[in-house]
Amino acid sequence: MASPMSAGRFLAVLRAEGATVAEVGDWEHHNRNHVGPWGPMHGVMIHHTVTQGAERTVELCRVGRPDLPGPLCHGVVTKNGTVHLVGYGRANHAGLGDDDVLRAVIAERALPPDNEANTDGNRHFYGFECENLGDGEDPWPQRQLAAIERAAAAVCRQHGWTERSVIGHLEWQPGKIDPRGFTMAWLRERIRDRLQQTAGPALPLGSG
Ligand SMILES: [Zn+2]
Repeated sequence: MASPMSAGRFLAVLRAEGATVAEVGDWEHHNRNHVGPWGPMHGVMIHHTVTQGAERTVELCRVGRPDLPGPLCHGVVTKNGTVHLVGYGRANHAGLGDDDVLRAVIAERALPPDNEANTDGNRHFYGFECENLGDGEDPWPQRQLAAIERAAAAVCRQHGWTERSVIGHLEWQPGKIDPRGFTMAWLRERIRDRLQQTAGPALPLGSG
């Protein structure tokens, strides 16, 4: 059972992995914990935002929409490669997904098709929203992809997970297409290489 790391630890591991991090407002206490549980944690979920423009993308993910209150994730990865922390705790990003997928993520084995929406994903996944229109044409800059890799690897390293604990929203919830523009298999390979090739940053004890 993996308890969620503290907000301070989350910030520390992201920075230790080499990510450029921006703290937005009262992100450490901005969450949806009043409507449901958060944890135990089982993985990391990657999304695209279907938006353009860093500022409005970050604000949307922090505040949410009339039909879906924020935070809509924990970190927003904008095109310039910055990870903007907008919330910490339960967040509206994963929605209902497939319990068979969750079991596979926990066991870190190959994912089955996501054909059911019966399980609360907001409870169990860290979420990163990535600025992209999701039309298959909007480019993914290298520095943005590198930031996604670092952010996901940081969480995996902290929890002792492999790259198999990182999934795309499209692998979780039927009908979702995000992220679009790269494959999760390709991203997982990058994360695997990062986890294997670097011993991991030394973190000060007591950083959360
Ligand atoms: Zn999504």
